[in-house]
Amino acid sequence: ASARGHGGSAVNVQVILRCRPLSKDEVAHGVQQVITCNERAREVVVSQNLGGKQLGRSFHFDKVFDPESGQAKLYKMAIAPIVEEVLEGFNCTIFAYGQTGTGKTYTMEGGPRNSSEGTDLTNSAGVIPRAIHQIFSILDANEAEYTVKCSFLELYNEETTDLLAVGDAMDQKLKMLEDSGRVVVQGLEEIIVKNKTDIYALLDRGSAKRRTAETLLNKQSSRSHSVFCITVHMREMSPEGEEVIKTGKLYLVDLAGSENVNRSGAVDARAKEAGLINKSLLTLGRVITALVEKTPHVPYRDSKLTRLLRDSLGGRTKTCVIATIAPTVQCQEETLSTLDYAHRAK
Ligand code: ADP
Ligand code: MG
Repeated sequence: ASARGHGGSAVNVQVILRCRPLSKDEVAHGVQQVITCNERAREVVVSQNLGGKQLGRSFHFDKVFDPESGQAKLYKMAIAPIVEEVLEGFNCTIFAYGQTGTGKTYTMEGGPRNSSEGTDLTNSAGVIPRAIHQIFSILDANEAEYTVKCSFLELYNEETTDLLAVGDAMDQKLKMLEDSGRVVVQGLEEIIVKNKTDIYALLDRGSAKRRTAETLLNKQSSRSHSVFCITVHMREMSPEGEEVIKTGKLYLVDLAGSENVNRSGAVDARAKEAGLINKSLLTLGRVITALVEKTPHVPYRDSKLTRLLRDSLGGRTKTCVIATIAPTVQCQEETLSTLDYAHRAK
């Protein structure tokens, strides 16, 4: 299912909605739930009590995942088809968008893992390790020659750092350069991944660095974007015996918390005063709207994130936004913001 732009032709932007379950604490405190998900009808209803009256506001998406839907189901239904496109030689991007604490990192990376679990996929493994597993199973079955490379970077206050760099390069801010229309991040480590079991070591390295930097620099991960990129180079023989070379790229983006973007998609005035403007998050919203509405000018150049993702957003690429929400009454206002924002991207 793809959204329809004003021009009437299909746009390759898919918006899916995921509601997390209540945490143990929330259950223990008997927290009130205000969200009802109907996967079949692809609908989410937020119940609101306005002046004593119970009202329900309903939103529709390309796909809806209720709190009982696990990682494997979301992957199979929403992500696997996109990864197949990447192996056909296309560039694709998957975003996690939502308020802090609603499951963006859980969705992209996965739940907590202990070292005794080894390198097999666990039930709570997220989109990144599952994508790597799918890529290697398809490539190995195809008997193609291939190289798989990964990079992992963080964008904070419009500055780029390499989450996989070690030693001297560790804290360096990386420059983004334009090289004949393509954006290159100067000095970014690209690690060759030889098999699917390498992925956890990479993810752990990146996540550990993200946590350390956060404590040292007194910054908040809720205000940074992390971008995991998988590039696949393939060399195959066609049935006619000709060599075919294909390159596909997949960006997996764990966005900054959406709590400072208000209902209309503009920056909240208080957030602006507090210096919490997130240029990349706002520009991304404008870029996606421009792509869906097929406006001639797409403002890619207005932020680091959209410059970086330019060759993987729009045109012959597939984009998937996973909007995450919590079911509790405490999150209701933010949930409505997320639903409005995500809905506009459709
Ligand atoms: P975010 O990255 O959006 O701030 P997290 O991914 O850190 O949120 O999730 C917050 C907490 O909720 C974590 O403890 C996470 O393990 C848990 N959680 C989030 N989504 C789910 C889910 N679908 N199923 C089970 N636990 C979840
Ligand atoms: Mg997170």
